Amino acid sequence: MDIFEKMQDPEYQKVLLKEAAACAGQYLDSVVSRDVYPPDKAIHDLELFDGPLPELPGDPVAVLQDLHRLGSPATVAQSGGRYFGFVNGGTLPAGLAAKWLCEAWGQNYALYVMSPVTAKLESLCEAWLVDMFGLPHGTVAGFVSGTSTATMCGLAAARHALLDRLGWNPAEKGLFDAPRLRVVLGDQAHSSVFKALAILGFGKAQTEHVPVDKEGRLRTENLPRLDDRTLVITQAGNVNSGAFDDFQAICDKAARAGSWVHVDGAFGLWAAASEKKRRLIRGMERADSWSVDAHKTLNAPYDSGIVLCRHAQALVSAMQATGSYIQYSDNRDGMLYTPEMSRRARAVELWAVLKTLGRRGVETLVDRLCERADQFAAALSQAGFRILNEVVFNQVMVACDTEAETKSVLQAVQRSGTCWCGGAMWRNEPVIRISVCSWRTTEADVRLAVDTFVKARKEKGMDR
Ligand SMILES: *Cc1c(COP(=O)(O)O)cnc(C)c1O
Repeated sequence: MDIFEKMQDPEYQKVLLKEAAACAGQYLDSVVSRDVYPPDKAIHDLELFDGPLPELPGDPVAVLQDLHRLGSPATVAQSGGRYFGFVNGGTLPAGLAAKWLCEAWGQNYALYVMSPVTAKLESLCEAWLVDMFGLPHGTVAGFVSGTSTATMCGLAAARHALLDRLGWNPAEKGLFDAPRLRVVLGDQAHSSVFKALAILGFGKAQTEHVPVDKEGRLRTENLPRLDDRTLVITQAGNVNSGAFDDFQAICDKAARAGSWVHVDGAFGLWAAASEKKRRLIRGMERADSWSVDAHKTLNAPYDSGIVLCRHAQALVSAMQATGSYIQYSDNRDGMLYTPEMSRRARAVELWAVLKTLGRRGVETLVDRLCERADQFAAALSQAGFRILNEVVFNQVMVACDTEAETKSVLQAVQRSGTCWCGGAMWRNEPVIRISVCSWRTTEADVRLAVDTFVKARKEKGMDR
């Protein structure tokens, strides 16, 4: 019997999936207590994966067990409660479970005819998110891999709309002789924004940089004169400080001039879900397009970004594709709003997360993350560390008395196993960067992490 005959046996699949569930369960049980960063031995043992591509088919249960035995210990415990490096997100159980089922469905969703169920759930997610973020009626959503792609889509829609208004259809005439557009953004725009701009044909030297204030917010009073061929890129949640631009003031100026405003809200747009935090994003609903991640603040499984666009036709025109075999329908055809055709049905797990949490659950999640960040800042400050940002959301920037101290404490924290933070430069100074992103992070986790900071400083002989 060859492997394809064997795989037809229902037992074969059942045994395999049970094993996968058992390994995953074991992993999740251990992830809350094990070292956050894998020990050297686990990383060293990755060499045991080495070897040529096997000649003959093998036993998939053995393959899975290898993966668990060698792979699991070498993971970074991002789904535990004490990983604070980068703006990430743990995975909520509801999303994980829905993703498993969805992968069993094996849906490829480009068009309605390919997966009516995914079309339905995408429609629902679109409506729920537009409502939760308080965006205008008629705003459409494209479900993509992350905010980098979502931003690229939003900016592509902007490019299309601005050029189209000038009588130049870029899909027909291309870009080389097109009227010149302007791009205005803050000095602290995220690197993914510059990447998207470069892909879309806007060079770095072409963009007009606006200085930022001490929190990284675009200084509205320094905005250049805007016009109707200008794209303004704003930020809801600075990747270091967590600060939010003044959307009210920016959108006022942009509206008068006829400029397009895009909001990079990768993790910060979720402030809209919280009564306590909503003031941070006031006015952002007046923008034209938005990009956001469900895999960050919302803690949906990874690979979940969303582009939202007020002008459906602009996004659709920027993403258009035709072919004799492409069969559009009167229902939702997901690929109208995304660069991809073949696409996994990522809205399924997003739907499950939103459905499970509900409006209140999302609010509690956002508030929890922010409260833990406040707790972090207060406790570290109490312990004599310097907090360099206004902690308005989930981000905390920490420094010691000297740069050398900061660097060695960061190193010690990264080696500690009890937590993991990243580093960055902030106002020309190295800092330790804390992002509270996981639903799992408890007050006790934060206390343990703060103890780790204090211990790290003591061990370096820097205790006061
Ligand atoms: C994470 C992040 C991005 C990029 O998002 P990806 O999902 O990693 O592609 C863009 N902007 C900000 C502010 C971010 O935090």
